[in-house]
Amino acid sequence: MAKTYIFLGAPGAGKGTLGDLFCEKQGVIHISTGQLLRDEMAAGTELGKTVKDLIATGALVSDDIVTAMVRARLAKADVQEKGVMLDGYPRTVAQAESLTGILKETGLQMGGAVLIDAPREILMKRLTGRRLCTNKECGAIYNINDVAPKVENVCDKCGSPLYQRSDDSEATVLGRLKVYDEQTFPLIDYYTKRNELITVAIEDAPIEHNFAHLCQVMGI
Ligand SMILES: [Zn+2]
Repeated sequence: MAKTYIFLGAPGAGKGTLGDLFCEKQGVIHISTGQLLRDEMAAGTELGKTVKDLIATGALVSDDIVTAMVRARLAKADVQEKGVMLDGYPRTVAQAESLTGILKETGLQMGGAVLIDAPREILMKRLTGRRLCTNKECGAIYNINDVAPKVENVCDKCGSPLYQRSDDSEATVLGRLKVYDEQTFPLIDYYTKRNELITVAIEDAPIEHNFAHLCQVMGI
């Protein structure tokens, strides 16, 4: 029976990269809700037209619409054959409950809610490390953790000073992580109670190392 996976993880945890590597290794289909919305609009379906009108008026696309799209996509033959990794869904417990129902209807098995669990200090280090060149014509981007400039705070290419964007400041990053926690804790709780949570502890190590650990935890 084909399996469905969801990946949960804070910004900076490496959820996107690890999810891609997982899909590649397991041959499961990666489906993002953003792409589903774009596909429906491009295909001009009834759902697509509704979504287009909503977006044009600046309204949010409702839970019902997103869930209907996910339900239609999961019923298709490729998903039924290969399994799926959902990206951007579920975001709420209501959506998680809908997904549980969809899996039952479509005969898919829950492979697991994979929590990419990185300690806060790693997230902070990764998310606050970006530095940009002050010379607009140069536009070089660095990260002091992996692609650091040769001389601290000086651009390798043009010698101009570097700066940190306010988006990457400690206060802003802390705010983003708080939003993530508030949105994600209820989902973690939901999947824990269902015995479907798979926690992958991330270390401050290259992605290959963390992916090897994920494979070990998931038995793949
Ligand atoms: Zn520069």
